[in-house]
Amino acid sequence: MSNTHKEVSVLGLGAMGVVIARLFLDQGYKVTLWNRSADKADALVACGGVLARSAAEALRASRMAVMCVYDYRAADAIFAMEGVAAAMDGRLLAQLTTGSPKDAREAEAWAHRHGAAYLEGAIQAAPDQMGRPDTPLLVSGVQAVFAEAEPFLKVLAGGIVYLGEKASAAAAMDLATLSSIYGTMLGFLHGARIAEHEGFDVAEYGRIVAGIMPTFAGFLQHEGAVIQSGDFAITQSPMRISVEATQRILQTAQEAGINTEFPAFAAGLFRRADAAGLGGEELAALIKLLRQ
Ligand code: NAP
Repeated sequence: MSNTHKEVSVLGLGAMGVVIARLFLDQGYKVTLWNRSADKADALVACGGVLARSAAEALRASRMAVMCVYDYRAADAIFAMEGVAAAMDGRLLAQLTTGSPKDAREAEAWAHRHGAAYLEGAIQAAPDQMGRPDTPLLVSGVQAVFAEAEPFLKVLAGGIVYLGEKASAAAAMDLATLSSIYGTMLGFLHGARIAEHEGFDVAEYGRIVAGIMPTFAGFLQHEGAVIQSGDFAITQSPMRISVEATQRILQTAQEAGINTEFPAFAAGLFRRADAAGLGGEELAALIKLLRQ
C-alpha cells in the first residue's frame, strides 16, 4: 500500500467519529481530523492525528474522507460551510452518518455535482464494537468507488456487506434490519411484563430468550426465502398456529391486567390474515396483508 493509500480525513468526532479516527491511527494511517468543536480532537492529536482548521481543509488533505456526524442535518451544515463544496472536487466521501434512503440519494447527488465520489455506509455496531472482524457495516454506492474505499472501511469493520450501486441501499437495509430489531424488542418487553407479573427473574427470562435466538434467526431466514420465492405452501410454520398463539398472548394479558398494546397489534394482524383466508399458508404469508 502506498502512502497516499494510508491517508484519510475524518470529519465528525463524536462518540463514533473518535473511535473511527483512532482505528485509522492505530493502523498507521495519516489521519486529518475535523470536528465542529475542535477540543474533541485533543486526545487524537496527542496520538499523531493532524487537526485541520476547517472542514474544507480536512477534505483537501486526503483523497479519502469519512464523515460521521449526528444526522444529515449536521452533514448538510458541514456541506454548506465555506470552501467545502469546492474542496469536494476529486475526493471520495464515505458518509457513515445514519440517514434515510432519501438523505443518501440527495447527498450522493450533491457530492457528484461537486466532483466527488460517494459511498453510503450504515454502521450497525456500538463504538466499542468497531474494528472487529465481524463488526457489521452496510455499504452502497458505485462498485469501483467501493473497491477503492474497501481497504479503508475494513479498518473500521470486518463485516462489510456491500449492497450494490444504489447509494440509498445501505440506509434502506439499515431501516429493514432495525425494523426486525424493534419488532423483537417490543415483543421482548411485553414478555418481560409477563415475566415480572408471574414473579420470574427477568434476567433469567433474558438468558432464555438469548438461547432461543439462534434457532429463531434461522427461522426468520427461512421465512425471508419463502417470501422471495412467492411459494407460501406450509413448510415450517402454519399461519394458524400464530393466529392462535397471538390471540392467547392477548387474552392472557387481558386476564392478568397487564398492558395489551403489543399483543393487540400482533393478534389483530394475524386475525385479519386469517379472515383473508391465509390461515392455511406458511406464516410468512402475512406479508400479503402488509402489501395491501
Ligand atoms: P454524537 O456522539 O452525538 O456526535 C455527534 C457529532 O455530530 C459530533 O461530532 C458533533 O459535533 C457533530 N454535529 C452535530 N451537529 C452538528 C452540526 N450542526 N454541524 C457540525 N457538526 C455537528 O454521535 P455519534 O454517536 O458519534 O453518532 C454519529 C453517527 O453514527 C450518527 O449518525 C449515529 O446514528 C451513527 N451511529 C452511532 C452509533 C453509536 O452507538 N454511537 C451506532 C451506530 C451508528 P460537536 O462535537 O461539535 O457537537
